[in-house]
Amino acid sequence: MENEVLKKLGNQDKYLFWCPGCKQPHYVKVEGEHPVWEWNGDMIKPTFSPSIMVRAGIPLQTVCHSFVKDGNIQFLGDCHHELKNQTVPLPILETVEDDLKYYL
Ligand SMILES: [Zn+2]
Repeated sequence: MENEVLKKLGNQDKYLFWCPGCKQPHYVKVEGEHPVWEWNGDMIKPTFSPSIMVRAGIPLQTVCHSFVKDGNIQFLGDCHHELKNQTVPLPILETVEDDLKYYL
């Protein structure tokens, strides 16, 4: 939908957003078994808590640690990518759909 920065994954309790630091989607589970994040229910200006930590690769290649608040993503200093210590708007999914389709 227009202006939405989250996408619900099928009939799962997971949503994805596009991470402008990693240039790939991250996934947040809002119901069901742990780990579960609190979510304000907003698809356009979401807030999640607690912070979102993504660690990927064996050996570890990527760390992305962020807070999502009011539709913005605040990257913390332990991120590996160039947006660490910055806060930027989450991209509207329509604007990244060409990249996103490889993950759906
Ligand atoms: Zn990321």
